[in-house]
Amino acid sequence: MIVGITGGIGSGKSTVCLIFELFNIPVYNSDEKAKFLMNSSPNLMQNIQANFGVEMYVNGALDRSKLAAKVFSNPDALIQLNALVHPAVGRDFDEWQDQFDNTILLKEAAILIESGAHKKCDKIIVVDAPDELRLERVMARDQVSEKSVKDRMNRQLDREDRLKFADYIIDNSGAELIIPQVQKIISDLS
Ligand code: ATP
Repeated sequence: MIVGITGGIGSGKSTVCLIFELFNIPVYNSDEKAKFLMNSSPNLMQNIQANFGVEMYVNGALDRSKLAAKVFSNPDALIQLNALVHPAVGRDFDEWQDQFDNTILLKEAAILIESGAHKKCDKIIVVDAPDELRLERVMARDQVSEKSVKDRMNRQLDREDRLKFADYIIDNSGAELIIPQVQKIISDLS
């Protein structure tokens, strides 16, 4: 069973996924894999250069800020980039999942729903925390400005819209312990 796990920036996806891993549930981190593939898949690298310019790579490494400047100022360019990256991640996920016999596999992605990847998941977990708390956590974690976090939040689904897709919600506002919530989901899915 493929279980998508998502949540807005700073909601605590990675933190929650670490707990699932402690319970021996394999986790595929789509965001990390996307970054990895953009720097290692010859096919994807070639396509990015063909669409956005050879200058997107410096000494074989992706210049993320240059690409971000290009795609975040132009919605069509972002759609174009996603059309290259998402299928590459989808193929990589298919290969990854073949190695496991586990009944539950987690697919973690910040934009699981925005990318349409949720359609290939059997169940969806949303990690949820209030916007203000997410903002504080990310500013502290990444040492970045309020504006840069808000810009990233604004490119993602609203909290309420994301929650509509949830089969399970993990409350990571601090009001509830995380481990019992994770255990409950695992026993429900098993
Ligand atoms: P991103 O979308 O940016 O990858 P994320 O959803 O994976 O973020 P995390 O990196 O897991 O979020 O959490 C954001 C920050 O908040 C981290 O510094 C993490 O340690 C902290 N954090 C997460 N959950 C809690 C919690 N329950 N209590 C306190 N801090 C927390």
